[in-house]
Amino acid sequence: MIRFENVTKVYDRNARPALDSVSLEIERGEFAFLVGASGSGKSTFLRLVLREDRATSGGVFVAGQNVAALSSWRVPRLRRGIGVVFQDFRLLPQKNVFANVAFAMQVIGKSRAIIRDAVPEVLKTVGLEGKAHRMPHELSGGEQQRVAIARAVVNRPGILLADEPTGNLDPATSQGIMAILDKINQNGTTVVMATHDTDIVNSMRKRVIELKDGVVIRDEAKALYTSMM
Ligand code: ADP
Ligand code: ADP
Repeated sequence: MIRFENVTKVYDRNARPALDSVSLEIERGEFAFLVGASGSGKSTFLRLVLREDRATSGGVFVAGQNVAALSSWRVPRLRRGIGVVFQDFRLLPQKNVFANVAFAMQVIGKSRAIIRDAVPEVLKTVGLEGKAHRMPHELSGGEQQRVAIARAVVNRPGILLADEPTGNLDPATSQGIMAILDKINQNGTTVVMATHDTDIVNSMRKRVIELKDGVVIRDEAKALYTSMM
């Protein structure tokens, strides 16, 4: 689903690369954590998948397509297949829960009838049935992140990228978010989550890809945050 072939990303010629000859493959349906210290290259990895940036060299393939070679008018279609969730939720503050999720469907031209069916269904998936009319400021952080996840997956993307999605949440709330991401993954969506959260990674026992200074120093199935080796 996602394949990096010898990917190097240089932002600043006088500094070391943000990613340095990274090669790896994440299969359709996998759940992978991307871990490593701040500055290790996690966000750069996600940005290259989304074609928010281009690799300096090497190939980034998403669903078989080399995204570096995509002409810019094809980039929106690439992004349509990728849901994204951030640490800071990024909801539209003037819109209620329903409208925040509906917006993701409106911008790609879905009909009112389809939206009316799909939004309550996805709100149920994230455990927010009954909160459709709340405004974001009326919700807890965990609930806001659930709205953001609902918005990210309502168009049924093949891939969900999550950049520190539990970074602003307490441990119990974070576990609730992980249960939702796990459910979405079990429904067939490939999930890649960048995180610093040791407890979360240790409790999930998923694939762990560890970056250090832009280099993959560990790639282990059913792993812990810190290698036992
Ligand atoms: P992480 O997400 O793991 O914190 P990043 O991918 O954000 O790491 O950063 C990797 C390296 O690339 C860091 O050294 C960072 O300073 C550098 N970097 C990231 N984005 C830019 C940018 N837009 N311009 C210059 N350097 C950048
Ligand atoms: P608009 O785009 O007209 O400003 P909103 O962005 O507030 O409207 O809402 C988007 C759509 O979702 C509108 O059609 C609105 O009527 C509908 N909507 C908002 N909340 C709900 C809800 N709880 N149940 C059903 N439809 C809703």
